[in-house]
Amino acid sequence: MDICYNIDKVKENVKKHALKVNRNPDDILIVAVTKTVDVSRIEEAIKYGITDIGENKVQELVDKYPTLMDKVQFHFIGHLQTNKVKYIIDKVKMIHSLDSVRLAEEIDKRAKKCNRIMDCLIEVNVGSEESKYGIEPSSLLEFIKELEGFSNLKIKGLMTVAPYVDAEDVRPYFRKMKQLFDNAKSLNQKNLDFKYLSMGMTNDYTVAIEEGANIIRIGTGIFGKRLYDMEVK
Ligand SMILES: *Cc1c(COP(=O)(O)O)cnc(C)c1O
Repeated sequence: MDICYNIDKVKENVKKHALKVNRNPDDILIVAVTKTVDVSRIEEAIKYGITDIGENKVQELVDKYPTLMDKVQFHFIGHLQTNKVKYIIDKVKMIHSLDSVRLAEEIDKRAKKCNRIMDCLIEVNVGSEESKYGIEPSSLLEFIKELEGFSNLKIKGLMTVAPYVDAEDVRPYFRKMKQLFDNAKSLNQKNLDFKYLSMGMTNDYTVAIEEGANIIRIGTGIFGKRLYDMEVK
């Protein structure tokens, strides 16, 4: 299936599931996840209306950046090592994976150096899975409080990668994220400006939308299976 067809399909689903819960489909941003996808295919997606892309590896983002910087906004969605913040700080619109005070400290420092305020989402490990990064739901408010002093980062909301379960079984996790989001939103803290709830990937974005996501991150649903996902024959 081609990229244009896939994007149409995703947009159709966004519309359908937003309307189902009386939400405006235009309030939902599709971030096309472009890890392992080459620049020419990304450009095809851009031609078809994609405005935002997500990368999870610093090197890959840096490689693609010069060609695409004027055409699309970059989001960083993967685990970010402190020592690599400096390579992306001037390139990305938002970091979705803030998951430690150390990382916040480094982002704040580097953002200050290039005279910008860096928008970040806090990654929450909503299923408390061993294999995943992110803040435990029960520690979220305390974590936010610890970020209070960082004036060059703006906490714009929350992100999660939900447990990989059947579509309907994932709903309680998304619902929990929405509760966490609403709770944190009401906090009064200078560097807090809660706007975004980034959740939902190819297999679960329709449920995520019904539960309140306003950023969805779609990879395979737009570009097809990634190379490293394919069976070697
Ligand atoms: C790869 C990835 C996605 C997209 O996954 P698909 O299942 O291909 O849609 C979304 N979010 C993160 C953090 C990812 O690493």
